[in-house]
Amino acid sequence: MMTSLTFYGGINEVGGNKILLEDKGTKIFIDFGKSYGKEGAYLEGFVQPRKSNGLGDYIDLGLLPDINGLYRNDLVVQQGYTEKEADFQGVLISHAHSDHVDYATFLHRDIPLYMGKTTKGILQALFEIQGRRDREVLDFKEHGSGYRDAAIPRTIHEFSSGERFKIDSLEILPLHVDHSIPGSYGFIIYTSSGPVVYTGDLRLHGNKPQMTREFIDAAKKEKPIALLAEGTHINDSPKEESESKVFDDGLEVVSRSSGFVCADFNFRDVDRVRTFFNIAKRTNRKFVINIKNAPFLKYFHQFPELEIPNYDDPDVILCKPRLYTGTFKDSDYRGFTDYVQLVNTKTTLQIGKNPEKYLCAMGFYNFPQFIDMKIKNGTYIHSASEPWSEEQTFSVERRNNWVDHFGMSNEQIHCSGHASRSDLFEIVKEIDADVLFPIHSQTPEEYKGVVDNIIFPEFGKSYELQNNNKHE
Ligand SMILES: [Zn+2]
Ligand SMILES: [Zn+2]
Repeated sequence: MMTSLTFYGGINEVGGNKILLEDKGTKIFIDFGKSYGKEGAYLEGFVQPRKSNGLGDYIDLGLLPDINGLYRNDLVVQQGYTEKEADFQGVLISHAHSDHVDYATFLHRDIPLYMGKTTKGILQALFEIQGRRDREVLDFKEHGSGYRDAAIPRTIHEFSSGERFKIDSLEILPLHVDHSIPGSYGFIIYTSSGPVVYTGDLRLHGNKPQMTREFIDAAKKEKPIALLAEGTHINDSPKEESESKVFDDGLEVVSRSSGFVCADFNFRDVDRVRTFFNIAKRTNRKFVINIKNAPFLKYFHQFPELEIPNYDDPDVILCKPRLYTGTFKDSDYRGFTDYVQLVNTKTTLQIGKNPEKYLCAMGFYNFPQFIDMKIKNGTYIHSASEPWSEEQTFSVERRNNWVDHFGMSNEQIHCSGHASRSDLFEIVKEIDADVLFPIHSQTPEEYKGVVDNIIFPEFGKSYELQNNNKHE
């Protein structure tokens, strides 16, 4: 086999992409994401894969492929096998969403990761905010190691849009695309059989459609032998959506609200952070964030083009929730000591004195804090949809109960990170590869008839890519 693709995730599910590309002995993975759908089928609350079985539970449940030379040796040994050498030359990470990067936690320390600078920065910010938890992409602690034991760093190679790099026989061209997290990329991978194109996650209705357009144009020019295209919203009915509509609708809702307003969105969606910050300014409200999200502002603010305020911006309030001692003392905010002393911090009790002066970027996990703010009325704006993200695993019913409890009205204002059905059709027709592999979709069969040659990949099956010589 000269060049082949094997799919270990992203099949009939949104996310969990783990695609093996083999070319003359070079073996790389494209993304190594967490499968929310598959995890959700088995796991809940305290029912989680047992670390005491290494990766055995993950493999048994089909969450990870059973492959030698791919995983961390501490986990391989824990599972009862002998240590293995790394047998893969690299993993390309398209963007920092969990369904594309989180299972890189389990990869062998000698397999280098390739990611954009922004993705690395977001992963660092996430580490500052959430700690290690189950995401150990940039470095990891071996199973059974203690608090004081050093983490083992991975080899991370940063790439930039438009700059080609090599992994053995492969040449890779990363190109930025517009999506609901900054630093998202598609790839053109030059194999010995011809170019292979991977869309990653993308959209054409966001703030920077020209980035996605440039990617489509570049991909089309290469006359690719294969296209791996996402299809998250391929089955959705057409609707008018854009980030500017989120701003307009949000501004209208907040303008007519005389009480407390909270907007519930994913803080990694930098467009959404900017949108609600601007709505707050326009409506003379202070933009309140949980103090634990301050590292995101600190990080995003480093990039002027993102137009994100810094954590000490006078229009931003860092909210101290009631933790541990319940007395709001500085030591309750361990890991956030840089932020607690700032003049723009306020406790939930202080915010509760005039809740109508604020627009709080807070959601489900902050609802108990609203008890301290004594919220009796106001507006709750739900501004997310992706049910496969960890933020959305709680039930809608439970969320609505809280909103009712606080006497708030319930609004849904959102624009998706993923291309619409018609845009997806246009994208795959434009790029016009020899064969289309639909991935990252619950209903990939919706692509039928859109282009001539489609393969619906099956889990773990290898597909040899043909060079049809029309490119010579
Ligand atoms: Zn995704
Ligand atoms: Zn994504």
